Amino acid sequence: MMAQYLALKAEAEDCLLFYRMGDFFELFFDDARVAAQVLDIALTSRGEHAGEKIPMCGVPVHAATAYLQRLIKAGHRVAIAEQTESPDAARKARGSKALVNRAIVRVVTAGTLTEETLLDARAANWCVAIGETAGGEVAVAAADVSTGRFEVIACDPATLGAELARLGAAEVVAAEGSDAPATVFRPRADFDSARAEERLKRLFAVATLDGFGQFGRAGLAAAGGLVAYLDHTAKGQLPFLRPPVLAAARDTMAIDAATRESLEITCTAAGQRKGSLLDAVDRTVTGAGARLLAADLGAPLMDRAAIEARLDLVRLFHDDASLRDRLRAALRALPDIGRALGRLAAGRGSPRDLGQLRDGLDGAWAIGDRLGRRDDAPALLGQIAPRLRGHGALIDLLKRALVPAPPIEASDGGYIAAGYDPALDALRDTGSGGRRAIAALEQTFRTKTGIATLKIRHNGVLGYHIEVPARSADPLMAADSGFTHRQTLAGVVRFNAPELHEVAASVTQAGAHALAAEAAHLEDLTAQALGGREAIAATADALARLDVAAALAERAVEGGWSRPAFADHACFDVTGGRHPVVEAALAKSGDRFVANDCVLGERSRLWLVTGPNMGGKSTFLRQNALIAVLAQAGAYVPAASARLGLVDRLFSRVGASDNLARGRSTFMVEMVETAAILAQATPNSFVILDEVGRGTSTYDGLAIAWAVVEAIHEDNRCRCLFATHYHELTRLAERCDALSLHHVRAREWKGELVLLHELADGPADRSYGLAVARLAGMPPATVSRAKAVLAKLEAGRARTGGLAAGLDDLPLFAAAAQAEEETCDAIRAEVEALDVDALTPREALDTLYRLKALA
Ligand code: ADP
Repeated sequence: MMAQYLALKAEAEDCLLFYRMGDFFELFFDDARVAAQVLDIALTSRGEHAGEKIPMCGVPVHAATAYLQRLIKAGHRVAIAEQTESPDAARKARGSKALVNRAIVRVVTAGTLTEETLLDARAANWCVAIGETAGGEVAVAAADVSTGRFEVIACDPATLGAELARLGAAEVVAAEGSDAPATVFRPRADFDSARAEERLKRLFAVATLDGFGQFGRAGLAAAGGLVAYLDHTAKGQLPFLRPPVLAAARDTMAIDAATRESLEITCTAAGQRKGSLLDAVDRTVTGAGARLLAADLGAPLMDRAAIEARLDLVRLFHDDASLRDRLRAALRALPDIGRALGRLAAGRGSPRDLGQLRDGLDGAWAIGDRLGRRDDAPALLGQIAPRLRGHGALIDLLKRALVPAPPIEASDGGYIAAGYDPALDALRDTGSGGRRAIAALEQTFRTKTGIATLKIRHNGVLGYHIEVPARSADPLMAADSGFTHRQTLAGVVRFNAPELHEVAASVTQAGAHALAAEAAHLEDLTAQALGGREAIAATADALARLDVAAALAERAVEGGWSRPAFADHACFDVTGGRHPVVEAALAKSGDRFVANDCVLGERSRLWLVTGPNMGGKSTFLRQNALIAVLAQAGAYVPAASARLGLVDRLFSRVGASDNLARGRSTFMVEMVETAAILAQATPNSFVILDEVGRGTSTYDGLAIAWAVVEAIHEDNRCRCLFATHYHELTRLAERCDALSLHHVRAREWKGELVLLHELADGPADRSYGLAVARLAGMPPATVSRAKAVLAKLEAGRARTGGLAAGLDDLPLFAAAAQAEEETCDAIRAEVEALDVDALTPREALDTLYRLKALA
């Protein structure tokens, strides 16, 4: 047995091995140590190996799912080795001491789950592979095998991180030797693009991949590597994959990982859904709708027509409350057909999954019927409605074949409806007729023996048998009694009788045949359902799209949100904008959110926002970034009105000290991330910078902030909101013509600071730092000491010109660059004019001095 175990363990590589032994999955050696600790179960030992006791632990098969869940959550992968024959078969084939054959039938990994209990109904579960070519091309292939979604996205080394952050993959696979940020590495050959092409053609049964679009070599490598990995984990039973959707990173708004984290789009910095934009917006009523909304918010579109199409659908439900309510009530009742299909396709389906398909498709039909009849239907609805009605034959079949509420467990039967299969009905009749006959026999035996307490019972060992109290058993023991003794227990004696045996055999046989017949039907019905799986998946998508549109409409009505409009140029014109998460938090404590405008355009691209701490600067910055995300995701936005030019890249950076709590305090991180903005932001980008430069000393910080503002203004020329407490920066307004000054208002009232959270034009008149300190509960003595120190400092500043002394005559960034260029030109001209061979040593030295002076 150990030899078999070790061979399987070698095959399982770095996965934990669940080794099936009867009713348990056992783990040995280090696997046992790891599992015992994660699962908090007893570590025992069994036998010896190389003179040492073998550590062991086990989990019961019937409860294995719960244990698997904990191991997967803890970051492990688990290979399941099942018995592939019965102990009887093994004995018959290879003698009484034969070992049962075992094989790894599946590798359970975080990215390849389909089980309802192991998945979050409202979140997609991506498994991602990264494909790379020697030429530096990069692509990402992503599959959610719980629903069959399959995407291939061409990106580049710089945007790879953003793509991975968008997907939030449960598992990332790359080729061995790659330095990609992967969690699993698989053989290089799996990522070979020529092989991948063959693999994909076979998988989708096509002669050419052209019908899907242009993969590119990296795309092929990624898709091939992903399919190979899925094949490996499923041990040949490849899960359901729909034809790949090919996209390029540039089709959606680029949002890098740091920006996603800082804006908390689909989860908070702490990894929670609660508190995120998604959570504040989500009013979907189905799991599939919630998954699609998360995907939409994570990938705002760049195609205006597609955005408007989504918005048209939202408007339909926004303007018609009764239509919206009826649709949402209908959707709420529907099962998750996408995931049911995923389980059926993975070979892990149950009768209940078929029942869910039946009910879901039936419900979709009814919805499609109602919506499809409207004349005011927007274009997107025109595309969706036909996909809702198209499974009439399958629905009919499943309605006839299945009982109303089929069970999850197939093994006990009882899920095929009466009347569907006459042969099955006959078997069931035989069974129930037999059971009636047995009940009648009991009466007959009682009369015949005169024992009123005689009973006919059933158990797993004896089957049907007659049971009488021990004191009445004697007459039945007689050889000619017509009863055969089977078993004597304390108090009761058990018998058999030929009449009973005959009926019982027919009941048992009919039962076994009925189970077999049901199982055959289950297989056949599953195959028929899977025959239409593309179309069923499309129906599931259509329902999800409706749910998202109706939910966004619901949210818009609830919050008084409005439909965004789009312009051809890089403007950003929001009136009465709000931050949905902060607003919701304030509402809980009965506080009102103060709405603010934000108008960025050609003449005022960059807003410098100053004002006291806690005054609402960050909130203002973020709310505008979130409005851009919502608008391009095709949602209404929390504002009185909004009009914007499409944002190609969105960036959000927060000064380092804000991240201290997460142990990522380093100023280095802040600078690396800021550098990425300066390198990547285009005139169509939108950037928010919150206290950048704060993570270092005052002088360094001001200098860096100053240079960053200049560079964004002069070079990137993107729309930008920059919050800072460096008042000195306001001097930039004099030189940067598209930069304007704003502040969050505050007032001191009866010695108390009142933060108005209201944006006003111009720089803040003072910083209110001490007032904020008092507001925060700093002891009065400390505050008054600080006041004294401040007075000294301010006197000093008045004398010397302060922190920004000397900045006034600093040439602007562009002018400085120009001067630099002129110097270079002069040096180059001088060098080109030189005739090196004709120079005397003296002249050469003079030339060097002259060049040095020029530099
Ligand atoms: P700052 O960045 O200026 O330090 P924040 O944006 O972090 O300030 O805001 C601090 C707090 O003020 C928020 O947590 C919120 O409670 C409140 N606040 C911010 N903006 C508003 C607003 N527009 N209306 C009402 N309260 C607000």
